[in-house]
Amino acid sequence: MKNGALPNSLFAICAAALALALGACGAKSPQVEAAAEPSQVSTVVEAAAETPVRNVILIIGDGMGPQQIGLLEQFARRASLSPYGDDETALSRIARESTVALSLTGPADALVVDSACSASQLASGVASPGEALGVDVDGNPVPSVLEVARAHGWATGLVSDTRMTHATPAAFAAHLPHRSFENEVAVAMIEAGIDVLMSGGLRYFTPSSVGADEEAAEAYAASFGIPYIPQSRRDDERDLLNEARASGYELAFDAGQLDEAVASDRVIGLFANSSMMNGIVESEFLANPNPTLQGARQPTLEEMATGALEVLSRDAEGFFLMIEAGQIDWAGHNNDAGHLLHELLRMDRMLDGVFEWARDRDDTLIVVTADHETGGFGFSYHRADVPEAQTIPGGVFENTPYQPNFNFGPVDVLDGIYQQRATYGDLIYGFADLPEQTPAALVDLVNSQTQFPIDAEDAIAILSREENHYHVEGHPYLSARDWPEFHDFEAFYVYGNGTATGLLARAVAEQQSVVWGTGTHTATPVPVIAWGPESARSKFAGIMHHTEVGAALIEAVSR
Ligand code: MG
Ligand code: ZN
Repeated sequence: MKNGALPNSLFAICAAALALALGACGAKSPQVEAAAEPSQVSTVVEAAAETPVRNVILIIGDGMGPQQIGLLEQFARRASLSPYGDDETALSRIARESTVALSLTGPADALVVDSACSASQLASGVASPGEALGVDVDGNPVPSVLEVARAHGWATGLVSDTRMTHATPAAFAAHLPHRSFENEVAVAMIEAGIDVLMSGGLRYFTPSSVGADEEAAEAYAASFGIPYIPQSRRDDERDLLNEARASGYELAFDAGQLDEAVASDRVIGLFANSSMMNGIVESEFLANPNPTLQGARQPTLEEMATGALEVLSRDAEGFFLMIEAGQIDWAGHNNDAGHLLHELLRMDRMLDGVFEWARDRDDTLIVVTADHETGGFGFSYHRADVPEAQTIPGGVFENTPYQPNFNFGPVDVLDGIYQQRATYGDLIYGFADLPEQTPAALVDLVNSQTQFPIDAEDAIAILSREENHYHVEGHPYLSARDWPEFHDFEAFYVYGNGTATGLLARAVAEQQSVVWGTGTHTATPVPVIAWGPESARSKFAGIMHHTEVGAALIEAVSR
């Protein structure tokens, strides 16, 4: 949907907010001019009457398509190691009381979306170009639901388990030509006056001199109580932490500090230089908490989400909060089913915490969706290890054995996937750090951390390299001359050395009954699960497009 195709009522609802929100963007959009029409202003009142919610919580599972939800639900319901027992996932419990829709995610000018564009469309309700942040197809800034909510006096927050300046959260606060402008995203976030920011990504908020040497880093860490060695990726001396502290933010850099900071009304938590811990590490920590760590560790995604709710729910006007489970996407890019499952479990723990807070309220809209699917993931049946004939007792099989033609995937594969102890990314990069990088060393490494063993022949295939057939000089990814050697869909593995994880996935595909179609995203429609008052959640129905989901979110915060 193009900008101009938005319903008139939405123009009017947004217009006042847009004028405010766009002040920071330095440009006017056509919507601002629409505010002058009196006939449209009257629809503001009507629309406000039918959207009684005072809190809107948008939850984005980055890369969480229908198949990913299927993995979580099959595991939770059927695996002998499922931690759910007889309980349902939080996702299931929320969905049971929700309006469930499907939504197309495509960008303005192509079939497949990236996270920056998808979040821009979700945030603004306006069709957006690929890899840009918070702009329409002509490159003009368009206000996000967060900016509209803030312009209406709502408190606002962004939480992500990736890093604060990464594409998904960035699209709610910044208006920039490309998602790679992470230093500018950090500035936009601090200047936007967002009440709660929690994620990784410290290195975009620290002055460049912090990265100069160990002494500079330690002195900086001491001045803020940062319990890890800070780095900087800035190319200037702007100290955004200092600016934030001066303007009244409480800062937190580990779980213990977060616990105290949530007593404040404005909190910035930056818990890592770049990305936060992955879902396998989080699951492992929760299964075996280390009491000697006390608060000196990263918070879980659930702890960040409930901390954000604690801060924001004190606001009398209500709040808008976006929470991203962002590493589902990274597991998908890496074709890593074990990592994927643990990211989904981490998201579900967060959903449990959010639903616990919201379940007895009648003034809160929760929308759970994805920005796109990642990896073309799926369980699939195949011709390896076909089952033997079995005798089963039913009368129909009295004279005939039960014998399906193919291997439909043993259920205990779910337990094996769950028991993976390191991400494929950590295995492939960990291998690169080994003193002896032999196929035998890769076999040892992989087989010590996963339940699906590889052999020497597999290891040779995983380590095979070839010329990059898609070389582009000066390209951030494609300038590499050699590349992991794929024998299928090779153009769809775009991120260089790291994509060797996709070859590991192929080596264990038959054992896991798992296939992967790509190292990037697919255009499958994604679920939209809307929970809350009927009048609010009913706007999220049918087969939508993410621009319509975004428009409905903006409508919900426009009162
Ligand atoms: Mg993301
Ligand atoms: Zn992605």
